[in-house]
Amino acid sequence: NAITATAIGAYHRTYDEPDREAAEQLLEEGRVAAERALALLDEFDNPLYRIAVGGNLAEILTHRGDLVAAEPLLYAAQEAADRLGADAHGDRVAASIGEWLVLSDRHDEAIEVLDELIARLGDDGPHSTRIRAHHSAYRAERARGRFDAALEHLETYERLERHRTTSQLRSQSKMFVTKSEAQAEADRHRSTAELDPLTGLGNRRNLHRVLEQLLPHADDDHPLALAMIDVDHFKKINDELGHAIGDSALIELAHLIRDEVGDDDVIVRYGGEEIVIVMPGAGVDDATARCEHLRTRVEQHVWPGLRDDRRITLSIGVAAAPPCDPDLLVGAADRAMYQAKRDGRNLVRIASDQHLRDATPLATPRP
Ligand code: GH3
Ligand code: MG
Ligand code: MG
Repeated sequence: NAITATAIGAYHRTYDEPDREAAEQLLEEGRVAAERALALLDEFDNPLYRIAVGGNLAEILTHRGDLVAAEPLLYAAQEAADRLGADAHGDRVAASIGEWLVLSDRHDEAIEVLDELIARLGDDGPHSTRIRAHHSAYRAERARGRFDAALEHLETYERLERHRTTSQLRSQSKMFVTKSEAQAEADRHRSTAELDPLTGLGNRRNLHRVLEQLLPHADDDHPLALAMIDVDHFKKINDELGHAIGDSALIELAHLIRDEVGDDDVIVRYGGEEIVIVMPGAGVDDATARCEHLRTRVEQHVWPGLRDDRRITLSIGVAAAPPCDPDLLVGAADRAMYQAKRDGRNLVRIASDQHLRDATPLATPRP
């Protein structure tokens, strides 16, 4: 059942993608796993699992357009959930019934089921069920020609989707917070490929994926800013105090930044002593104020392993979307960071139009 649920979750995330073949493949994998789970239930019956597996299988059949086969499974799962008082299961089944009714062109009945479900879920119900309910309700209202109601559902659906994306990214970047946690994480998951082993932050690959996920959602109402941070005269720290002290300063800096930024922000080690912060929800002014705060805090920080009067400072470039192209956005912030260097270091600079025009793609080596 877990395999089925995972396949369904992955299927939902392919919703906007053109690769329908991969989506169909996920449904097929989910269906095969659900059939196996149902066979196991004949031996070890568990009524809650039966609801979950039956509901999941019905959802898969619905998405595949096999509405006739889905119907009895859906209503059996709903009846069992009601009988057992299994509300969370019942809500998920109700969302599937709503989807089923929409696909069956029974839009009035769909709205009846979905409005009731949405009211029951309120603001605290499980995200995934709310997302599905609003998406189906949007389609049903649109089909009924009630465009105001449809728009409202679509807006809620998009807001919840965006929140899901950011909270996934947030939990990923939190996982990367310390080296030991990061290594434990790396042992368990494929995410090593996106991890910087020294600082436990994400790496450039992580940045790219994050931006590809977030930037398409950025607009006036949902801004996104990015900061390119470079440590000033870091080579001197290495030259004067040794590479090991340099390394520990980088780790400490990663912690300082993690502590300073918001929960939704994603921090990656972009290069040697260069760190990028992605700030979803922040416009350029907000991001600049936060970077100023960080700059001051780092400037005042007393570094373990360094003489008390030895300061480390940052030059920071800030850019905000648009541009919604990851390379251009990073490039613009990079140019602004170099502007901060030219203007005397230990400064925050905002990307100008000229910086944007000068921005080079990510893959191109720096001059
Ligand atoms: P500025 O940026 O202010 O122009 O001067 P800088 O000395 O920081 O600039 P530069 O880019 O020339 O040097 C960056 C230095 O960062 C080079 C290297 O010694 C150091 N560095 C890069 N990665 C690491 C690392 O992983 N560990 C340590 N200890 N040092 C690193
Ligand atoms: Mg540098
Ligand atoms: Mg530097």
